Amino acid sequence: MSTTTIPTTMRALVLEDFGSMALTERPVPRTGPGEALVRVLATGICGSDLHGYTGENGRRVPGQVMGHETVGTVAAVGPGVESLAVGDTVVLNPTLSCGRCASCARGMGHICADRRVIGVDPTIPSAFADYVLAPAENLVPFASEPLHGALVEPLAVGYHAAVRGSVGADDDVLVIGGGPIGQAVVLACRRLGARSILVSEPDAARRKLLERLGAVTLDPAQVNLPTLAREQTGGLGVTVAVDAVGATTTVQSAIDSTVAGGTCVLVGMASPQIELAAYALSTFERSVVGAFCYPADEFTQTARWAAANPEMLDPLISRTVTAEEAPAVFAAMALGDNPPGKVLVSFGSV
Ligand SMILES: [Zn+2]
Ligand SMILES: [Zn+2]
Repeated sequence: MSTTTIPTTMRALVLEDFGSMALTERPVPRTGPGEALVRVLATGICGSDLHGYTGENGRRVPGQVMGHETVGTVAAVGPGVESLAVGDTVVLNPTLSCGRCASCARGMGHICADRRVIGVDPTIPSAFADYVLAPAENLVPFASEPLHGALVEPLAVGYHAAVRGSVGADDDVLVIGGGPIGQAVVLACRRLGARSILVSEPDAARRKLLERLGAVTLDPAQVNLPTLAREQTGGLGVTVAVDAVGATTTVQSAIDSTVAGGTCVLVGMASPQIELAAYALSTFERSVVGAFCYPADEFTQTARWAAANPEMLDPLISRTVTAEEAPAVFAAMALGDNPPGKVLVSFGSV
């Protein structure tokens, strides 16, 4: 096993209880066969981490270390790892699939029946820490502005949502919700060559950011969304609507904004249950498709795309805070103090 000098303990942000996080000492994980230990540079705060922090989504538990949007350098590799070397800058694909179920057999490990996600699964110490352990196959080399690496995971979520909507050059796309996932969808639509991108977002600072990314924006408090979507597309409606909010009202708006035969992609997770006007789907043959994470090859392609397009990514990072500042930042963000783009937690200096 090849190593640099690795301490036995590290700093980790532990979710002590819902609404309370603390920077605590934890053991540094040891590499096993096929694994690599990553010295974390920065990890992004995801909306799901905030909902986990408050306990709202039931997908995190007290005692765990969260964090799944991460970039760092390889500090050690376990036996059998030849694809990575100590010192490589890597980004983490946090999805672990079983390799045995029907989805995995079809090459769709991202919807594996036994999927576990680093940063979500409470039994896996995750990336809001100085070090994180991962299978080497989940670590993708990243040669670019290092902090941009923390954006690859949410960018891959947005890219897969656009792929699920089959976005291409003939598409006029509406994105509902302009937070970090909506922003990632906008960049994915540009990457896929969409003809036009309209984003509905109530927050003025976010609308400004989205315009820097090349989208046309609207404030849903000021306009009727389906009417405006039709006006922007010669009266027809958009061909693809991506709902990055995920509530009854937003999914219905997405459906009502699409052309007959259009597609709505549901990637937002605001409500576990929604109610829809069925005939708007059936009589005009619209489709609703779900999107959640991404196949491994889309993650790798997104890492390459991000490395090749640094100028498009700078607007996405609003703040970088230290690990010491992070507990207070989580508390403030849970109360709604959210900047327009991503907040990254830096673990860069020990
Ligand atoms: Zn996330
Ligand atoms: Zn599986």
